[in-house]
Amino acid sequence: MNIADLFKEKTVFSFEVFPPKKESGVETIYKTLEVLKDLNPDFISVTYGAGGSGEANATTIDLCSKIKNQYQIETIAHLSCLYNTKTSVDKILEQLKTEGVENILALRGDVNPDYEVEKDFRYASELTEYILSKNMGFHVSGACYPEVHQEAESMLEDIRNLKKKIDAGADHLISQLFFDNSVYYDFIEKVRIAGINVPIEAGIMPVTNKKQIERMVSMCGASIPAKLSKVLQKFGDNPVAMRDAGISYAVDQIVDLVANGVDGLHIYTMNDPYVAKRISDSVANIIK
Ligand code: FAD
Repeated sequence: MNIADLFKEKTVFSFEVFPPKKESGVETIYKTLEVLKDLNPDFISVTYGAGGSGEANATTIDLCSKIKNQYQIETIAHLSCLYNTKTSVDKILEQLKTEGVENILALRGDVNPDYEVEKDFRYASELTEYILSKNMGFHVSGACYPEVHQEAESMLEDIRNLKKKIDAGADHLISQLFFDNSVYYDFIEKVRIAGINVPIEAGIMPVTNKKQIERMVSMCGASIPAKLSKVLQKFGDNPVAMRDAGISYAVDQIVDLVANGVDGLHIYTMNDPYVAKRISDSVANIIK
């Protein structure tokens, strides 16, 4: 199924997980998926060597296959291209096809100074075009940045580049995390004016750990509004209180987004089934 078709019927609600970095984490991710599947998400996406960490033991493809074939839930396999060649992409596409995975989030990936960049792809739009040129039945999604991608000179330039991804055939976008909904609404307005009409999911990261969020924010450039900064100051050193406050903050964001007609919500679960379940339960009657 093409993920983009889901948006014709409802506000889409999806989760993102990442493959464990160590063999010992395999059982944990399987337990996480057991919980997530019972929350009936519209799809679960699986990251690909995020941060340039290379392939994990339980690979993206293994997890996508399990989600799709064992749990009968739609899945999106993330695939980044800076460190892949056309030949290695071909191999991955073949494997995804064999497993029945039909949706791919085509990404450039972050630059990692420890690895040598391959020459075949420079941008996600080139990977998008390449995947679709193979005519293997894949549907391609892309990433977008409500607060501008860190390397772009301006929002205008970034949106122009985003349009190239859509022109290459991406028919669904997922946003980078953000904590201030007004930033997202401004972005959506600009993107629509630019003629980008595909469904866009808002990326929501529950802030349940102060250190983790500081690291994420330094990596992706998301800003922390005063409201969240106060929450971090007050509860950041109390893990249980921080978790409750972070879940409430995320639910608050979601309620406002749905009230304002968002196409869909993509929850960065950080592989934490407890947090995903609490958020999902809190918005079960809101997202239809
Ligand atoms: P692109 O769309 O290629 O854009 C990268 C930069 O190049 C931007 O500044 C853009 O404005 C510019 N640009 C684009 N096209 C052109 C052009 N034709 N000419 C000139 N400039 C251009 N990373 C991982 O490694 N694994 C993952 O699983 C992963 N999942 C992600 C999921 C989501 C929802 C998001 C938002 C990000 C994810 N990332 C992941 C991170 C992502 O790889 C990085 O943010 C990366 O730096 C940019 O990837 P992109 O696909 O958006 O790149």
